[in-house]
Formats: sequence, C-alpha cells, structure tokens
Amino acid sequence: MANQNCIYCLERDANSKDHTPPKNLFPKDKRNDLITVPCCKKCNRSFSKDEEYCRAVISSTGQSQRNPSAKEILTGKVFRSLERDQAKGFRNYLRKSISPALVYSGSGIYLGRGSKIKVQMERVYNVIKKTVQGLVFHETELTVSDEYEIKSQYIDSVQQVQQLFTIFRNCPIKRIFSDDIFSYRAGIIEENTPISSWLITIYDSHIFLVNIVKD
Ligand SMILES: [Zn+2]
Repeated sequence: MANQNCIYCLERDANSKDHTPPKNLFPKDKRNDLITVPCCKKCNRSFSKDEEYCRAVISSTGQSQRNPSAKEILTGKVFRSLERDQAKGFRNYLRKSISPALVYSGSGIYLGRGSKIKVQMERVYNVIKKTVQGLVFHETELTVSDEYEIKSQYIDSVQQVQQLFTIFRNCPIKRIFSDDIFSYRAGIIEENTPISSWLITIYDSHIFLVNIVKD
C-alpha cells in the first residue's frame, strides 16, 4: 500500500498498524481474527493509556465477569498490571475513584455495603471512538474527517437494549468475535460517507450506541 495516511489523524504516514477492536480486551489465544488498520506510531501510542483504563473498567464492572474471557483478562492481566511498580499512579487513582456506597436492590431493599466506581466515561468513549473509526475503515475504506462527529452513548436500560437489538436485527454489517468478547452491528445511513450507526457490545455485557453524524 503506497502512501497510505494514518486513518486517525489523516495526516501522517501510516507507518504502523493498529488492532481494532483493541487487542488488550482479548486473551492471547483469541486474538487471531482481529482486524488491523493502517495508522501512525504517534496515534498508536496515544491510545495505550486509555485502552488500559478502558480494559480495567469494562472487565471489572457490569455483568462482564459472566464472560470467561473477561474473567481471564481481569485476573490475569488487569490485576497483574496493577501490581507493577509503574502502575502506582493508576492504582492510587482506582482506589480514589472507588467510594463506599449503600447498595439497594431494584425494589429498594437494602443489600448491604458495596462500592461504586466513578468512571471517567470520556476515556472509555475515546477507545470506543477510535475502535469505530477503525471499523468504518475496515468495512467501507472510508475515514472519518473532522467534518463528522462520532457520538458515543453507553446504554444501561434493559428496555433500550432490547429496542436497539430489534432495530439492528437485520442490519447489513454484523460481526461477533470469539467468545462474545466483542461484537459490532452497523447500518450505513448515507452511501459514500461515514454517516452510520453502530451497536457495539463488549463481553456480552456493556453496550454502546455510536452515531457518526455530520458535524
Ligand atoms: Zn496518526
């Protein structure tokens, strides 16, 4: 491929390859069907801290721990990386973001003390955004210039989840990676532009709706 530009900054030469979805969500033996996209080393490096943060949050929250790969990632990778000396800052940060909370069931019954995590959603959305940019390129060979905006939304209502899966049921673009670690469904709304809607799931537990719109 001659003179391909980085699909993220659209400026520098693509002298590197980026995995999409992020490979750190996958145990080593389940990475063989990942997609790679051309990018520059600078962009590639710039994602790594947010990707590590996103992995820690996503694998440890919601229903993720029902997924065997999420379990493997959390106990094998996230916990181990938090043991490292260099992770002191990140470890303190996580400790500070977890605050004691009183836990109630849906019908208001007191269940005891638990903890709640203040999540920096912006950092999670950064990872979702670059992931969708990569998927757009893989599926359509289009890039997302700054004429467009990528809007990500975390879906946590069961009713909305059901509605979205109904809407996306017959969408033309669909792929589920091994063990339900990651899936995407998409509909292109305007041909020859990146204007599209994406339904992303991670560990069959966290669901994001991503819309690419004209800015
Ligand atoms: Zn770049």
